[in-house]
Amino acid sequence: MARILGESDSAAPERRSKPSASGRAIVRTTLSDQTYEALKERILDQTLEPGARLNIDFLSRELQVSSSPIREALARLEAERLVVSELYSGYSVAPKPSAKYLADLLNYRIMLESHCALIGAPKRDRQILAFMHQAYERMAAVPRIGTRYRQYRRFVQADAWFHQLLVDSAGNEVMSATYESLHALLIQSRLYRTREGGSAAASEVLDEHTVILQAFDAGDGPAACEAVKAHLEGGRRRLIAREVVRASGGEQR
Ligand SMILES: [Zn+2]
Repeated sequence: MARILGESDSAAPERRSKPSASGRAIVRTTLSDQTYEALKERILDQTLEPGARLNIDFLSRELQVSSSPIREALARLEAERLVVSELYSGYSVAPKPSAKYLADLLNYRIMLESHCALIGAPKRDRQILAFMHQAYERMAAVPRIGTRYRQYRRFVQADAWFHQLLVDSAGNEVMSATYESLHALLIQSRLYRTREGGSAAASEVLDEHTVILQAFDAGDGPAACEAVKAHLEGGRRRLIAREVVRASGGEQR
């Protein structure tokens, strides 16, 4: 098998490892998945730096796979906004999101997610609640977020699933689809390489999720709305404040 084979489950991307609508976990590992995971890891860990050109022949030699899994992986990464393509110059690693974009993204998330929580929590959909508890348990099983993709992958995937469920709870297909296509958590995780990824941050995030989950369990829309806002404001504190300080050449905490 090709050299890119890593840990046994490293190739289960979030869209396949999360349970489907029927609750059945779909896990499929192919050479295409492994190539995708290997490239994703290099981009998020910045072995491939933001803006770097992605030459298909070079990557094919480097990962010892043919060009088709590389092309498939690049198309998937482009859909996730980690890679950009231009007509004549081919693929490159997407530039790192600016502090302004991250702030805009968080403001949008606060607006959309708090609205969905307000409407969705009172519905107390049993399937949504069961999946939210599953996502929470997966996050709780990760003791430390870390700064490398392999370390934080499970946490971020479960976190993204939790937030997608929260949006889905409102039952608005357009909002669900828009939110899914944003890949908000993935965009934010591009900052993890250079931030502190301590256990303190993981437990803080988890505590905030506990409050959201309790409000959903109670079917309390206003409480869920406030809990979501508090959590995303926490995210702003954890991520963007440091990023802005860093960008302005200030002191790092
Ligand atoms: Zn979260």
